[in-house]
Amino acid sequence: MNKAVILDGQAIAKQLNEELKEEISKTCTTHFPTLATILVGNDEASHIYVGNKNKQAHRVGIKTHAFFLPAQTSEIELLALITKLNNDHLISSILVQMPLPKHINEQLIIEAIDPHKDVDGFHPKNLGYLVLDKPSTIACTPLACWHLIKQTGVKLEGANVVVIGRSNIVGKPLAILLSNLNATVTLCHAKTKDLREFTTTADIIIVAIGQPKFIDETYVKEGAIVIDVGINRLSNKTICGDVDFDKVIHKASFITPVPKGVGPLTIAMLLRNTWNNFTLHCKSYP
Ligand code: NAP
Repeated sequence: MNKAVILDGQAIAKQLNEELKEEISKTCTTHFPTLATILVGNDEASHIYVGNKNKQAHRVGIKTHAFFLPAQTSEIELLALITKLNNDHLISSILVQMPLPKHINEQLIIEAIDPHKDVDGFHPKNLGYLVLDKPSTIACTPLACWHLIKQTGVKLEGANVVVIGRSNIVGKPLAILLSNLNATVTLCHAKTKDLREFTTTADIIIVAIGQPKFIDETYVKEGAIVIDVGINRLSNKTICGDVDFDKVIHKASFITPVPKGVGPLTIAMLLRNTWNNFTLHCKSYP
């Protein structure tokens, strides 16, 4: 039985991070890109994510300032910290780890970050520029998916792409990004009638729905590229994606694993965005 090529996100991310490390060490002597990370509360997974982001930032030569705030931090206190970081010329990027505690309005916080320091590309100004196909900071996971598709060597122009999941952080910006790159994009979601009708004609399927192993081989056209964004923690503590990897691997031409697929590349894109914000920023250093 044929088997798809596995797109090794971890290896690709390692190479991209090495390239970035070299670029930073060649360019920076006195000022260095600096990422401020803010985490509110004690969510275990969020602590692991932020710790990992900071560790990898250090490895490539990005400085970090981590702010661990108690769960009862008020919206006003968080806004005050963001204002302080916006005005600090030594900080080039700000990351607020989501989700925030329920008493804090996430959208208000996203909009408070200076769009030039928005490393996640969630600020409406950056999303708006993406829609207009103008230079902007693009969300890290959509960028990671694009990188993985590039690795296959398959041309995006004219390709039929189905994105499943329409979140503001993955599905929507991804659909716009790929459309800007001349793919024909269909954005599906939980209310889509007969999902298979769309997916079985797709050259590329990208799944971001948070449903363990939902996409099996019956959704996939022979030879399609399948990118799995999903991260699902099962009751036995293992992690799996939204794609039934063992079944789809025999139908797809390329497939991403979970873990070690989209995840590591998302962090690589975060580091690249931090560097891009810095190079934009250092022009305005005093
Ligand atoms: P989300 O906010 O959880 O939204 C899920 C989306 O999937 C919604 O648009 C929903 O449709 C759609 N959906 C749910 N069930 C569906 C079904 N059965 N058929 C079709 N569509 C369905 O999405 P998210 O934040 O983008 O997260 C999605 C997954 O990606 C999660 O597992 C998350 O952990 C993972 N993730 C991974 C990374 C990474 O770096 N690898 C980054 C971000 C997220 P409606 O809009 O109609 O409800």
